[in-house]
Amino acid sequence: MKTCPRCNSSMDDNASFCSNCGYAFDKKKSIVPKIVIIIVLTAAVVVSIVVGRFAYNLSKANSYLQSLKECADLMMDGIDTLQDIYEDIDNALEKLPNEDLQKYVDLYNNAKTEAEELFDKIATYFE
Ligand SMILES: [Zn+2]
Repeated sequence: MKTCPRCNSSMDDNASFCSNCGYAFDKKKSIVPKIVIIIVLTAAVVVSIVVGRFAYNLSKANSYLQSLKECADLMMDGIDTLQDIYEDIDNALEKLPNEDLQKYVDLYNNAKTEAEELFDKIATYFE
């Protein structure tokens, strides 16, 4: 026998409801077992540890990415500087050989003119 907590009527141990007031005895069985609470709390702790580690790794990865981006920016600056230097060298090379080439072209033309004059003079001796 068991007693109804609401009306104190005595009921059979197998009764689900109080036949006097309708109290549902099974309500008390719906209390979540401790094992479920322990499992849920453990899962919550594990999840928060995993999420925490993930967030920590993510922030670490972000700082690495930031460093990489700074390195890439420095490299791009270096490449820009090198391109400027190459451009300067190209400009200098473009001017230098042209001047030298022009000198050689002038020398060649002068020599050619002198040679042609000389050939003309020699030719007049054989006319
Ligand atoms: Zn009752």
